[in-house]
Amino acid sequence: AYVIAEPCVGTKDTACVDACPVDCIHPKKDESGHGDVDQLFIDPVECIDCGACVPVCPVSAIYASDDLPENWASYAQKNATHYGR
Ligand code: SF4
Repeated sequence: AYVIAEPCVGTKDTACVDACPVDCIHPKKDESGHGDVDQLFIDPVECIDCGACVPVCPVSAIYASDDLPENWASYAQKNATHYGR
C-alpha cells in the first residue's frame, strides 16, 4: 500500500483524496474529524497501489511502502492505525 508521511502534517491539501479511484484517503475536508488530525491517511487494505495520488501531492508526502524513507518508516503503521488495521 501507499503511505502518507510527514510532509502532510499541517498541510492536509486533499488533492490526493480527489485523485484516489477507490476513496481510501481520509479524512476529507468535509468529513468529521478532519480538524482533529494533523495529516491525511491511506487505508492500507483498500489501497490498490495505483499511484494516482503521488504526483498530485503538492508536498510529495506520499510513497509506496517499499520506497518510504527510513526516517518516516513509522508512518506506515500510523496510516494503518487510523483505520484500525
Ligand atoms: Fe488511492 Fe491509488 Fe493512492 Fe492507493 S495509490 S491511496 S488507491 S490513489
